[in-house]
Amino acid sequence: MKYYSTNKKAPLASLHEAVVKGLAPDKGLYMPEQIKKLPQDFFDNIENMSFQEIAYRVADCFFGEDVDAESLKKIVYDTLAFDVPAVKVEENIYSLELFHGPTLAFKDVGARFMARLLQYFVKKEGLNKINVLVATSGDTGSAVANGFLGVDGIHVYVLYPKGKVSKIQESQFTTLGNNITALEVDGVFDDCQALVKNAFMDEELNQHMKLTSANSINVARFLPQAFYYFYAYAQLKKLGVTDKIVVCVPSGNFGNICAGIFGYFTGLPIHRFIAANNANDIFFKYLQTGKYEPKPSRQTLANAMDVGDPSNFARIYDLFGGDHSKITALISGATYSDEQIRETMKQCYASTGYILDPHGTCGYRALKEGLRPGETGIFLETAHPAKFKEKVDDIINDNVKIPERLAAFMKGTKQSIAMPNDFAQFKAYLMKE
Ligand SMILES: *Cc1c(COP(=O)(O)O)cnc(C)c1O
Repeated sequence: MKYYSTNKKAPLASLHEAVVKGLAPDKGLYMPEQIKKLPQDFFDNIENMSFQEIAYRVADCFFGEDVDAESLKKIVYDTLAFDVPAVKVEENIYSLELFHGPTLAFKDVGARFMARLLQYFVKKEGLNKINVLVATSGDTGSAVANGFLGVDGIHVYVLYPKGKVSKIQESQFTTLGNNITALEVDGVFDDCQALVKNAFMDEELNQHMKLTSANSINVARFLPQAFYYFYAYAQLKKLGVTDKIVVCVPSGNFGNICAGIFGYFTGLPIHRFIAANNANDIFFKYLQTGKYEPKPSRQTLANAMDVGDPSNFARIYDLFGGDHSKITALISGATYSDEQIRETMKQCYASTGYILDPHGTCGYRALKEGLRPGETGIFLETAHPAKFKEKVDDIINDNVKIPERLAAFMKGTKQSIAMPNDFAQFKAYLMKE
């Protein structure tokens, strides 16, 4: 399969090139030239298959031309070493719990898949060590660090703003050691991102070491997220629901929902999608007006969705040939203030006993408000509420239990390197590595 850039000014790339480069040279996002249809008999029997079996069929549809069957199967099975259950919250509303992986958020799936695919290419092509640079405000760093932990031939540098991430989040990428280095930058998230961007553009540094990124613009990170949309369908089908399924996705950079839409184009019978936003309503506004107007991001309770210029919008736009009416026919939107998030989390807990995290709360509310007669809704619960324990406890006035694997991180010893917010010093550090 060849990959083209959404900006259409870069040469076609192989999967290997698209994964190692991340962003295309014309700053566009890579897209597969074609989305194959999955056969009807796959959907006819999907409810009798395991998550891993389903995911392998989907992976084969996307990546089968470029990765041999045995290796691809192993990558998929290793990636999905945890369940993604669909849990009934109330009549017609289900939660797809994506927080049963190592760092308790959905990014585990994409990060683990990308790590294993990159390792496959490193081995196959006998490449030198690859270095992944990732700037994080919290969740991305932990998913990427844990996804790549112990993967031979790859070293990860996580840049995070000193004092700006929660203790729980920090423990998830500073206690790992091994092939993971945490750099504590004396600055804010945007400074970390700027250091990473400068590193990718520095010729001397790129001659010294092979650098790549691991954010959701990477094909190998966003596309595997399609797997669990199929498994959600399979679980609902098993419960007797097959008609008019609405999937609601709490969205920030729009990588997650974009993967679901790729699933839809392979033939997955989803009736429609809802993109739930927090107060960062750029996509919501686009749906209303047809105009895409990026804005600086605003801080909210659902902070992993605080994105003012969602990068994967370019992919959605491209998939529909920029046709606003086609986009609004399949996807609708919702936007919620922090006050509404609080109110809804409280209401859901009081009436159902289900504890939502701030991101999933937006998804739940958008279904409650947006489901039409005859539809069944499932929202993606993108993180475990314990990751936001202080906020959630305060809102529901109860005590969220911390799962064992989260508590385990907090017992580890912090290992990080202090880094001034200065590119020359960051570069000098990497040149010595
Ligand atoms: C990253 C993240 C999101 C947003 O996902 P996108 O793919 O960027 O739209 C939502 N919820 C949580 C908990 C996240 O970590």
